[in-house]
Amino acid sequence: MRRIYFDHNATTPVDPEVVAAMLPFFAETYGNASSIHTFGQQARAAVEQAREHVARLVGARAAEIVFTSGGTESDNLAILGVVRAARGERKHIITTAIEHHAVLNTCQALEAEGVEVTYLPVSPAGVVDPGAVRDALRPHTVLVTVMMANNELGTIQPIEEIGRIAAEADVWFHTDAVQAAGKLPIDVKMLGVDLLSISGHKIYAPKGVGALYVRSGTRLAAQAFGGHHERDRRPGTENVPGIVALGKAAELALVKLGSEPVRLAALRDRFEQAILDRIPATRVNGAGALRVGNTTNITFSFIEGESLVIALDLKGIACSTGAACSSGAIEPSHVLTAIGLAPAEARASLRFSLGRTNPAEDVDQALAVVPEVVDHLRQLSPLYKKPVPAP
Ligand code: PLP
Repeated sequence: MRRIYFDHNATTPVDPEVVAAMLPFFAETYGNASSIHTFGQQARAAVEQAREHVARLVGARAAEIVFTSGGTESDNLAILGVVRAARGERKHIITTAIEHHAVLNTCQALEAEGVEVTYLPVSPAGVVDPGAVRDALRPHTVLVTVMMANNELGTIQPIEEIGRIAAEADVWFHTDAVQAAGKLPIDVKMLGVDLLSISGHKIYAPKGVGALYVRSGTRLAAQAFGGHHERDRRPGTENVPGIVALGKAAELALVKLGSEPVRLAALRDRFEQAILDRIPATRVNGAGALRVGNTTNITFSFIEGESLVIALDLKGIACSTGAACSSGAIEPSHVLTAIGLAPAEARASLRFSLGRTNPAEDVDQALAVVPEVVDHLRQLSPLYKKPVPAP
């Protein structure tokens, strides 16, 4: 059985070209990038070349890229760094209800320190209204943080408009672009963002490496203490193989940006439409909004999402629910409840996220399996009444 991987928003395989690029930096070119001898200089040159590639992916200058351990650290550094560097007794942040927990929980941690946070609601399609950002501004607002593309729905947020509003108000603006990088063109200058997070393992580089774009002139306090690495913004000996990998992945992502998102959008659209046509009581979440082309989030009413994930896995299809399972209880996704789904509907929703591992045949193979599995699980549901075909 060929297993189909429809979970690229969770993580991606490392591209073979990325593996090849990073391998020499484990055992051959192993210098510390801060050492002044030749070993060190070789590592430094590789790190700086990677910085150029990452900068190019987002339209920044190399000096504005800080390497981190991933998307979570980038989000933490951006939010904590800007808020803690800001002057003033009272501080206020504006964010949205559908951010990743790397942003939401960081904001909550700051609330415990006395920072005020506004969590803006989103439309039923999963998009925040830029007007609501403007209305939420206060004299002591120091930061707006709004993600570029949502990880569960794929919905694209109006970053450029929000960037203009933040700039007019003279407030720092961070965007979590972890799910946008490689899927959408990104130009930090055009978007008007001061800080932007990316993660290696969502763009075919390994887990445990990421980057934060910090516009030059942004006041950012380091959140860890040590050496003078990364221009005093992120101490710690550089993860040279990981950084080289991120650089190569960024280079490849930029090359593929013209074709791969279009290919995936066509596959996603065909998959989505066929599910809606063939399976009753299904709906696409976020369908009314602009979305990244690889993601679809579908509610299969009358089904427990976790059971469907497991049943599909047994048939060789890997996908996910947005729900986080903690202490044995499955919490409905905060994103799906934010767009108005009842808890039962949120729990009945699955995310399929396509990527480079998927040829067109994967969609056909999945479509041969999903309707049957859904029908089987629904037969077990006391709530489900099969629609009677019209005479
Ligand atoms: N932000 C978003 C939108 C994400 O989807 C993720 C990962 O799922 C992260 C941040 C965290 O990135 P990392 O896994 O590199 O810490």
